[in-house]
Amino acid sequence: AKPQVVVVGGGYGGATAARYIRLWSDSSIDVTLIEPNAQFISCPLSNLVLGGSRQIGDLTMSIQALADKHGVRIIRDFVTSVNADKRTLALAGGQSLSYDRLIVSPGVDFMWDQLPGMLKKGAQDAILHAWKAGAQTVALRAQLEAMPDGGVYAMTIPPAPYRCPPGPYERASQVAFYFSRHKPRSKVLILDANDDVVSKGPLFKKVWKDRYSGIIDYRPAFRIADIDAGARTAISELGDKVQADVLNVIPPQRAGSIAMQSGLANVNARWCGVDFLSFESTQSKNIHVLGDAIAVAPLMPKSAHMANQHAKVCAAAVVDLLSGRAPDPQPMLTNTCYSFVSDQDVIHVASVHAYNAEKKTLLVVPGSGGVSSTASPMEGAYALNWARNIWADTLG
Ligand code: FAD
Repeated sequence: AKPQVVVVGGGYGGATAARYIRLWSDSSIDVTLIEPNAQFISCPLSNLVLGGSRQIGDLTMSIQALADKHGVRIIRDFVTSVNADKRTLALAGGQSLSYDRLIVSPGVDFMWDQLPGMLKKGAQDAILHAWKAGAQTVALRAQLEAMPDGGVYAMTIPPAPYRCPPGPYERASQVAFYFSRHKPRSKVLILDANDDVVSKGPLFKKVWKDRYSGIIDYRPAFRIADIDAGARTAISELGDKVQADVLNVIPPQRAGSIAMQSGLANVNARWCGVDFLSFESTQSKNIHVLGDAIAVAPLMPKSAHMANQHAKVCAAAVVDLLSGRAPDPQPMLTNTCYSFVSDQDVIHVASVHAYNAEKKTLLVVPGSGGVSSTASPMEGAYALNWARNIWADTLG
């Protein structure tokens, strides 16, 4: 019988791993992908929906080509438990599957218990995160459209690490872009739990000064302790209260729930430790973890680009391991994160990460990568092509 690989989650990490295991094993390994959503909706570019230059439909794609072109068996269901000893997993629909190797890429889930007011009835329907692209992205855009000119949009940013380090600042820029065109008396208030802008700080701050001065107000070290959803108010650790017309809470994050429940989140009870040569869990043999759910290596962002790179290192390693070979001892990964600061102008940060055998981790190659010198429409074209490429690479 062919070796069986099961992949949990058809997002950036999981779909890429499923596709590449089929490609690199010449279809000699059976791959089953479990994903509850009918469609893949991209978080990258979803801030443009808030800025008004894209619709959610532009970012919504089918995952069917993974089955039709690559022979991945897709099951539309949700994994409820994993039994690492028996190498089986259970699905919400009642089915049970067994595996030789399991790949888990469930993304993040939110630590709502850190913001007790958000656990009250109705709070999560009124105060949106829009940190998983889809219905919430559309609903947040509707809240911005309904807000009268002269109103305040406030966003809270959790302490790093969280999904997409530059994402909140791109979002602030997108909302400011929309206000500058349609509601020029309105304000964007950034309440950042971090002491400074986490990614591309000097570039974002220059854009805000040059283009959105008088619109964006950046407040670092606003350590959020609670939310009063009814009053649309964010409350800091020090008791400062900030009321907004539209309050957008990006909550603290941890590995997706299935990783937590199956004991894979062995770093601070929050993220999943992995061996960077194969992305095999440091907790459970024969289980690999990818993407946002892992405890990252130094200076490694939680990004779609990185999830794609994890997936390729893992896919190659899984094909090797199932063929009795050792994985490549020197993996090398890249990352680029583009951020739109208007409908066209973009800034980027890029890096290269190489395996260091002595430290057993991935380290940034000195002198590799860097950031844009300034925001430009040329980088806007690169960013759109980056998106087209990664969608094709992920979904086939
Ligand atoms: P995901 O892509 O979220 O996939 C996880 C999948 O697992 C989901 O489809 C989910 O349904 C499924 N799942 C979860 N639990 C289960 C279960 N129990 N059973 C079955 N399936 C399950 N990154 C970039 O590189 N560039 C960008 O420009 C960029 N912009 C961003 C902008 C925003 C606003 C946000 C929020 C993120 C952005 N990111 C960007 C980050 C990027 O979206 C994530 O890093 C990436 O999605 C991580 O991939 P993943 O596979 O870990 O998780």
